[in-house]
Amino acid sequence: MSSPKETIDRRGLMLVLSSPSGAGKTTIARRVLAEDPEITASISHTTRPRRPSEVDGKDYHFVDKQTFTQMRDQKAFLEWALVFDNFYGTTRAPVAESLKRGRDVLFDVDWQGAESLRTQAGQDVVSVFVLPPTAGALEERLKARAQDSDNVVARRMAGASNEIRAWDKYDYVLINFDVDKSVEAVHAVLAAERLKRSRLTGLQGFVEGLLTEL
Ligand code: 5GP
Repeated sequence: MSSPKETIDRRGLMLVLSSPSGAGKTTIARRVLAEDPEITASISHTTRPRRPSEVDGKDYHFVDKQTFTQMRDQKAFLEWALVFDNFYGTTRAPVAESLKRGRDVLFDVDWQGAESLRTQAGQDVVSVFVLPPTAGALEERLKARAQDSDNVVARRMAGASNEIRAWDKYDYVLINFDVDKSVEAVHAVLAAERLKRSRLTGLQGFVEGLLTEL
């Protein structure tokens, strides 16, 4: 009898996280990425100015409008959107490669990006929406970040209702009462979604092998 292989080959999934700015999504995403070796971040391109704490190539690829437009025209983006006057886009190539190798990819995109990814990648997408517990908590977090001007904070608060209205398109919705619990919830979603039969490309072979040995 052959010794069993302890993992079954699977196709990677696309974990799409959205929320209004300031709901804590970036903190949750960073924690999940740090704690789970099977998932990596999709690093978007943006024309937004870099914040002091951000690193080019790690948080985003910061590019000018001309570069972004050229890339868009060359169909380099799987999806792109205009958010608060800046362009944001997800490049196509790294995603396909990761999914094929059974690696999951995390996307921190707005509701428009989530919608495009759902349309284009359907079954590969698992979408999670993060809501703040109160409107006050949202504003506090935006102000505490202190990396954006008052004007930017005000615009992001105004944009929050647009983003929140997309909540019912998502597979899972978390209310971020407590970051630790939210991170745990995302781990639970990942654990269950990774077990989906449709992602387990190695299952057919495994079962056939099992049957021949009976
Ligand atoms: P921020 O400027 O705070 O980093 O991001 C603003 C918004 O743009 C957030 O809701 C974030 O999820 C979204 N965003 C970041 N990268 C992308 C992207 O590649 N595509 C889309 N559609 N939205 C993005």
